[in-house]
Amino acid sequence: MSLPHVVIVGAGPAGLAAAERLVEAGGVTVTVLERMPSPARKFLLAGRGGLNLTHSEPLERFLAQFGGSVAPAVREAIARFPPQDLRAWADGLGEATFVGSSGRVFPKSFKASPLARAWLARLGAAGVRLETRTRWIGFAADGGLRVESGGEARTLAADATILALGGASWSRLGSDGAWAPILAEACVPVAPLAAMNAGVEIAWSAIFRERFAGTPLKRIAIGVGAPADGAGTSEAMITAHGLEGTGVYARSAEIGEALDAAGTVALRLDLRPDLAADALAARVAAALKGRTLTERLRRAGLAPAAIGLMREAGPLPAEPAALAARAKDCALDVAAMRPLERAISTRGGVRAEAIDDRFMLRARPGTFVAGEMLDWHAPTGGYLLQGCLATGRAAAEGVLDRLGRS
Ligand SMILES: Cc1cc2nc3c(=O)[nH]c(=O)nc-3n(C[C@H](O)[C@H](O)[C@H](O)COP(=O)(O)OP(=O)(O)OC[C@H]3O[C@@H](n4cnc5c(N)ncnc54)[C@H](O)[C@@H]3O)c2cc1C
Repeated sequence: MSLPHVVIVGAGPAGLAAAERLVEAGGVTVTVLERMPSPARKFLLAGRGGLNLTHSEPLERFLAQFGGSVAPAVREAIARFPPQDLRAWADGLGEATFVGSSGRVFPKSFKASPLARAWLARLGAAGVRLETRTRWIGFAADGGLRVESGGEARTLAADATILALGGASWSRLGSDGAWAPILAEACVPVAPLAAMNAGVEIAWSAIFRERFAGTPLKRIAIGVGAPADGAGTSEAMITAHGLEGTGVYARSAEIGEALDAAGTVALRLDLRPDLAADALAARVAAALKGRTLTERLRRAGLAPAAIGLMREAGPLPAEPAALAARAKDCALDVAAMRPLERAISTRGGVRAEAIDDRFMLRARPGTFVAGEMLDWHAPTGGYLLQGCLATGRAAAEGVLDRLGRS
């Protein structure tokens, strides 16, 4: 009797993690379809930034980073495959990890390619078949998968399917979000795909842009539509288009949702979160009279870029208290998010009500979903890969249960 055949579509971290979990369990044959000529292209790109695999903070704090309708299911999946398991997995592939000063976890090599090579070799040795240049294009009337390769469409039968098609940024690497309308047509609720971990566009004056594009802003606090609450500091980078950087990326779901709802939102920067407003006002007042306003603000401890930002927020007031208030709550109107194409990740995707507690599509029993294409989001910091690997494994466990192989 032949073994049940599982088809995984998408050879990114989620799809490969699902394949791995299936072959660990055994008793199934596994084929991974990938539309690109080679697998894991976005994972390899992530390696260029050092490959932040996961984070070392306590699990409760780690799990609190996840948002979106599928976040509760992602948290459960991560509780079953937590950060220490991911580190052991990397170790098992010959890539020992270390904890950086920020608590983020990286492979010692800072690269993705050795890990990807070892992973693919191990999957191949375990019998996983990888079929590249093969694109999933929809469901066949008989329940099979419609795929296209070499310009020809065909139908593929599977005893279970896992879709791990990624988000919609960096489409030249393979994930283009073309699955969203296909699933919507199959009665699967899908939240609109939008940029996450992306910068924002701010209409700088020409003079500010010319002088400060490329300047980092260290130790600022960021509020979205409300003053920064002063809890912790973050950083950003002034660009020709607006602001980028971890502090902005981490807030991109809030910013995007506010823009969706109202068409406008202000980022409210505290440019000296280490100083109370009255202390800053006293410093401004104490700066020598007769000097230019800019000189006085610099003497009060504000960097040139911070003073430039204060001017971008409107004409500068003269009173020390008002100047300090501007520095503590510098409101900059966001025109838009930077385009999804260049975002690090995507928010939106297959909604929670579309899946059961095993990541199976309610509208298509036998078809499971994993990775970034689900409606969850998280900041940078290793949360994304952890979420993708954990949901890939969880979807595979759902398949094993369904096939009676767990
Ligand atoms: C510049 C950059 C840096 C990043 N750095 C980090 C980092 O350091 N740490 C971190 O945690 N995360 C990082 N990420 C995010 C992380 O890489 C992604 O979240 C992760 O790769 C998503 O995994 P996935 O398997 O869900 O999707 P993907 O990796 O996008 O894989 C999906 C696969 O499905 C294939 N596919 C899509 N549609 C079809 C179809 N119709 N038929 C067949 N195949 C299809 C695609 O070609 C692709 O190979 C980074 C992302 C970017 C862009």
